[in-house]
Amino acid sequence: MKIYLNGEYVEKEDAKISVFDHGLLYGDGVFEGIRLYDGCVYKLDEHLERLEHSAKAILLEMPMSRAEFAEAVCETCRQNNLRNGYVRLIVTRGPGHLGLTPDGCGPQSVIIIADNIQLYPQELYENGLKIISVPTRRINSSALPPAVKSLNYLNNILAKIEAKRVGFLEALMLNDKGEIAECTGDNVFIIRKGTLYTPPLDAGSLRGITRAAVMDIASGIGIAVKEQALTRYDLWIADECFLTGTAAEVIPCVEVDHRPIGDGKPGELTRKLIDLFRDSVKMDGVRLD
Ligand code: PMP
Repeated sequence: MKIYLNGEYVEKEDAKISVFDHGLLYGDGVFEGIRLYDGCVYKLDEHLERLEHSAKAILLEMPMSRAEFAEAVCETCRQNNLRNGYVRLIVTRGPGHLGLTPDGCGPQSVIIIADNIQLYPQELYENGLKIISVPTRRINSSALPPAVKSLNYLNNILAKIEAKRVGFLEALMLNDKGEIAECTGDNVFIIRKGTLYTPPLDAGSLRGITRAAVMDIASGIGIAVKEQALTRYDLWIADECFLTGTAAEVIPCVEVDHRPIGDGKPGELTRKLIDLFRDSVKMDGVRLD
């Protein structure tokens, strides 16, 4: 496997960065997870824009232009003869001193990994996922805007561990008001009486690219879409529920906190949105050839 590392394509074994890199020492950096479908890098421009915004928010200067990043992402896929897969793009503050200060850090480290991914077993796309709310809260937006996709994922990781320890694959995370924020790596949606609801971004959700795509698809087929604060109760009494994310795509959710959603099977509208999303992915991005 060839990894893009600071302008070069190197073998996985040789893809090494400094132990003084502040991405490692402090999680000081930003990243994107991007999908490759049938030779098409899905929504590449949207991902690169979000990366730029994350970097700007943490005062991290981007070492390359958007066009250079786009070419490096595509070339990493080509170097690995990948037609379908998942691309992880990381920009860190770079090597520096042991102290917190980013002064003296640099140059930024740019890493691109193109590989395969299977987040959840296929069976769960047919029968649905069960999730549980956990004690660890989504980080407060006044501490770190949830829109920043930074290398600091510890609270999401803790939430994931808490869910796994009690037998669930995914955790539902609340914000400090007790409202639904998102899952550890996915946005949350419900359907109630034909309307699609998802928490607003200020509830503590990442501005998910799959989230936006699904909202567009739903509006396009005449479904009303509302961004509205949601409680656990709203999820418990929903007709349908599903999660969205680059890695997970659109996955039905059939149980929340031990309460079956609807009749406990993936909902009809959810299935429709999954089909429409899958149809759309090969047409909306940058082609490798
Ligand atoms: N929330 C979090 C915390 C995430 O890490 C992700 C995955 N990047 C998402 C939501 C889903 O966002 P996207 O659809 O852009 O992958």
